[in-house]
Amino acid sequence: MIPQNMLSTRVLIIGAGPVGLMSAISLDAAGIATVLVDRRLERLDAPRAHAVNPRTLEICQRFGVPADAIRAAGADVRDGGQVHFVDVLGGTCFGSLPYERQDDGARAFTPWPLVNIPQPRFEQFLGQRLAHCEHTALLRGLSAVRVDEVHDGVITTLDAGGLGEKLRIRSEYVIAADGAGSQTRDGLGIAMVGPEALQHYLMIHFQADLTSLTQAHPGLLYFCMAPAARGVFIGYERASNWVFMHAWNPAVQRRQDFTPEVCKRLVEAAAGARMDDFVLRNVSPWTMSAQVAETYRAGRVFLAGDAAHRFPPTGGLGLNTGIADAHNLTWKLASVLRGVAHHTLLDTYDAERRPIAGINSHQSVTNSAKLLHLFAALYGPDPAATETHYASVLANPGAFPRLQESVAMQRPHFDSFNLQLGYRYGAPVDPEDIDISHYVPAFAIGDYLPHVALSDGSWLVGKLPTDDFALVTGPSARAWRNLPLPVFTEGIDFSPHPRTFFEQAGLDADGALLVRPDGHICARWQHAPADPPAAVDGQRQQALGY
Ligand SMILES: Cc1cc2nc3c(=O)[nH]c(=O)nc-3n(C[C@H](O)[C@H](O)[C@H](O)COP(=O)(O)OP(=O)(O)OC[C@H]3O[C@@H](n4cnc5c(N)ncnc54)[C@H](O)[C@@H]3O)c2cc1C
Repeated sequence: MIPQNMLSTRVLIIGAGPVGLMSAISLDAAGIATVLVDRRLERLDAPRAHAVNPRTLEICQRFGVPADAIRAAGADVRDGGQVHFVDVLGGTCFGSLPYERQDDGARAFTPWPLVNIPQPRFEQFLGQRLAHCEHTALLRGLSAVRVDEVHDGVITTLDAGGLGEKLRIRSEYVIAADGAGSQTRDGLGIAMVGPEALQHYLMIHFQADLTSLTQAHPGLLYFCMAPAARGVFIGYERASNWVFMHAWNPAVQRRQDFTPEVCKRLVEAAAGARMDDFVLRNVSPWTMSAQVAETYRAGRVFLAGDAAHRFPPTGGLGLNTGIADAHNLTWKLASVLRGVAHHTLLDTYDAERRPIAGINSHQSVTNSAKLLHLFAALYGPDPAATETHYASVLANPGAFPRLQESVAMQRPHFDSFNLQLGYRYGAPVDPEDIDISHYVPAFAIGDYLPHVALSDGSWLVGKLPTDDFALVTGPSARAWRNLPLPVFTEGIDFSPHPRTFFEQAGLDADGALLVRPDGHICARWQHAPADPPAAVDGQRQQALGY
C-alpha cells in the first residue's frame, strides 16, 4: 500500500545531466514508466564536454535523437579538427595534431564521426527528445537527499529547495546519475577507488571573439606552455564561447581572490593579447580525479556516468562513457521489469561496464602524464633554469628535436578511435595492451556489431530493435527463418554495400549473429546448427540471465 503523499514509478533517475537524460529516453522507448529528477531548475550553462564520439552519436540516433542534427550543430572540422601546443594562444605554435577521427575515412567505421559540440547544446537535443517521451516525467528543483531500500523497491526522499516539505518517490529501481559528487553514491557508502585529487583547476568560462587570434592555427584545444601563463583553452565556438583551464592550489590560494579582473588578466596573459570584448560567464573550481566506484550496484540502486567514474578530461571520455553506461543498463532494467529476464541479468551491468571505466580512466591518466614530456622538452632538466631554457626553445624551436618527439608522443591522447568503438564486453584486458587508436572491426562475442553500410544509405545496427534481441544472418539462411524473434537476413531484409555482411563478419553464407538490444553480439554461429530454434533460444535465455 503506497501512502498518499508518495509518488510511485517503476524507475527513478536522479540527475538530468546527459546520462540521466539518455537513461530516461532509453527506458521510455521500452515503455517503462520513469521519473527523472534534478536539483537544478535549469540546465547547467557551463560547456564542459565538447567531444561527442561516434558510439554516443550511434546510440543517440537509435533512440530518436538525430545524430545528423547534432553533428550539424557542432563545430566544423576546419574549426575543431586540430589541437595545438603553443607559447600563448596567438603566439608561436610548437606543434599540432589532428583532433580524433573527424575525417571522411572514419565513415568506413561509423555513420557519424566524432563532433565537437558544447555539452549544454548536446543536452538540448536530449531534452528535446525527452519532451516527446510518453512514459517519463521530468521534475526539476528536487534534490534527492536519501534512498532507502525496502522490501521490493526503493523509497527516495527529495527536498524541494528548502520548502520544508519532503517528497518521497517509491520505485522498483533507482539510477543514480547525479554526477561526480553523487550524494546517492556517498549515502550508500560506495567508495571511489583511485586518486581523488590529481590537480585543482579553475574553469574560466568566457565569451570573446578569438577568431582572428586563432586564424593562423584554427583549432579546438590550445595547450599554452609559456611558464608564466600555462593553461588550456577550449574553443567551443571560436567566435564566442571559450573556456580557459587554469591550475590553482586551494591549499595556498583563495577562490575569492580570482575576481573577474584577475580572471581576465589570466586569460589575456595566456592569449597573449588584450580582449576588449571579454565577458566572464562563470568561474568554477573543479578537481581532476581518476576514480572508479568500487561497485556500480547497491541492491536496487545503480550508479551511472560521473557518479560511477571520474576521469581526467584528457581523453574526452567522461560523458561518452556515461552514455554507454546508460545504454548498457537500461535495456537490462527494462527486460527485468517486463518480466522477460532474470534479475541476475542486472549484475552484468557492473561486470561489463566497470572494467571499461577502468580502461578509460587509465588512458585519461596516461594522456595527462604524457604531457609532462612536453614540459620537460620545453623547460629543460634544471628547475632553476626553466625560464632561460624555455626562452631558447621559443627563439628557435627547430633546434630542439626532442620537442617534436614530445609532440608526436601526445598523438594517442587525441586519437582514441579504438577506445571509442572497439570495447568488448566479457573479455578482460590489460589497459597497457590496448592499441587505443587502431580500430579493427570485429564480430566476436561481446563486440558491438560493427558498422555495415547498406545500399539504401542506412546502417545495419540502425535497423535492429532497441528493445529486443535480433538475429542477423547471412544470405543462405532458410534454416533461420520463423524464429520467435526478429530475424534480419542479408539480401532479404538488408543489402550491404559495397561488401557483403557475412564476409565482413567472417561467417559462412548460412552463419548468424545474435545481437542484444544494445547492439552487442552475444552468440555467433559460423554456419547454421542442426536445431536453430533450440540454439537461439538457449543463447538468448543465457544472455537474459537464466
Ligand atoms: C572541462 C571539461 C571538459 C570535458 N570534456 C569532455 C569531453 O570532451 N567528452 C566527454 O565525454 N566528457 C567530457 N567531460 C566530462 C563530462 O562533462 C561529464 O562526464 C558529464 O557531464 C557526466 O554526465 P553525468 O550526467 O554523469 O553527470 P552531470 O553532467 O554532472 O549531471 C548530473 C546531474 O545531476 C544533478 N544532481 C546532482 N545531485 C543531485 C541530487 N542530489 N538530486 C537531484 N539531482 C542532482 C545535477 O544538477 C546534474 O544536472 C569534460 C568535463 C570537464 C569538466
